[in-house]
Amino acid sequence: MGSANGLTSAQGTQPLFSFGVISDVQHADIPDGRSFLGVPRFYRHSLLVLQRAVQNWNNQKRPQFVINLGDIVDGYCPKHKSMSIVKKVVDEFGKFNGPVYHMIGNHCLYNLPRDKLLPLLNISNLDGHAYYDFLPSPQYRFVVLDGYDISAIGWPQDHPHTLKALIFLEEKNPNLDKNSPMGLVGLDRRFLMFNGAVGKEQLEWLDAVLQDAAKLKQKVIVCCHLPLDPGASSQEALLWNYDEVMDVIHQYNCVKVCLAGHDHKGGHSIDSHGIHHRTLEAALECPPGTDAFGYIDVYDNMLSLIGTDRIESIDMEFHS
Ligand SMILES: [Zn+2]
Repeated sequence: MGSANGLTSAQGTQPLFSFGVISDVQHADIPDGRSFLGVPRFYRHSLLVLQRAVQNWNNQKRPQFVINLGDIVDGYCPKHKSMSIVKKVVDEFGKFNGPVYHMIGNHCLYNLPRDKLLPLLNISNLDGHAYYDFLPSPQYRFVVLDGYDISAIGWPQDHPHTLKALIFLEEKNPNLDKNSPMGLVGLDRRFLMFNGAVGKEQLEWLDAVLQDAAKLKQKVIVCCHLPLDPGASSQEALLWNYDEVMDVIHQYNCVKVCLAGHDHKGGHSIDSHGIHHRTLEAALECPPGTDAFGYIDVYDNMLSLIGTDRIESIDMEFHS
């Protein structure tokens, strides 16, 4: 862990509150493997990373809640085990002494359709959508986006959002395998089937939430499984319409930090409006005995991420 050893940080002041973070556990009861880029993946060990994370958060008694940035189960999990493995991972999160806020990732959706997945993740809402907000303190609002709102995975095959995504991919990606970026150049490399988009209704909802937050002088942390800034992510991992989402966010001054997962190597950037983007390193890619989780201390003027092993600690000071 980082240097924090009590209730105060390097700043010398007490945080308003703290929360735990972890991303891309991608557990499966299968032997270790590699990503298509050859990066080792430790499917069984990742559950131990989560167990150590929960133990650590509980022992510290510091995080008030936990945010899971998505992909708790891997696409290679044998399908007849999907339900039991998702439940197993959710149960591990459930050992945390406080609320856990989940979001969906592509790997979760490879295993279970939305109608089965969302109740297990305690995301109960209308029409199978998975975006929501919550207020852990009067000054801070958290917005969780559904990056697979317009997506070719997770919805029934004849759902309008599936059809919209398939038409979109057909237009943007000439490859037969829509998960291949071959021939796509620069930022167009994000037009892959394992990504998705925030739909029109969700954009309108986001706009209304941010308008309200701005009026109430709340600071906002946006969380999405898919990264929202090219500076904090590989081009291949970005939300299809990250630019549209950021256009909405940039209309207001209230969003201070965007957190993401999905791009396993992690990243950090500060965008043109001074907003921090932090993509968290994956728990899946921790060699046995190493970790990738952390907690974030929240102050008036900054967020301080204290990470373990693969997650680099960082102070994210607000620019405006
Ligand atoms: Zn993912």
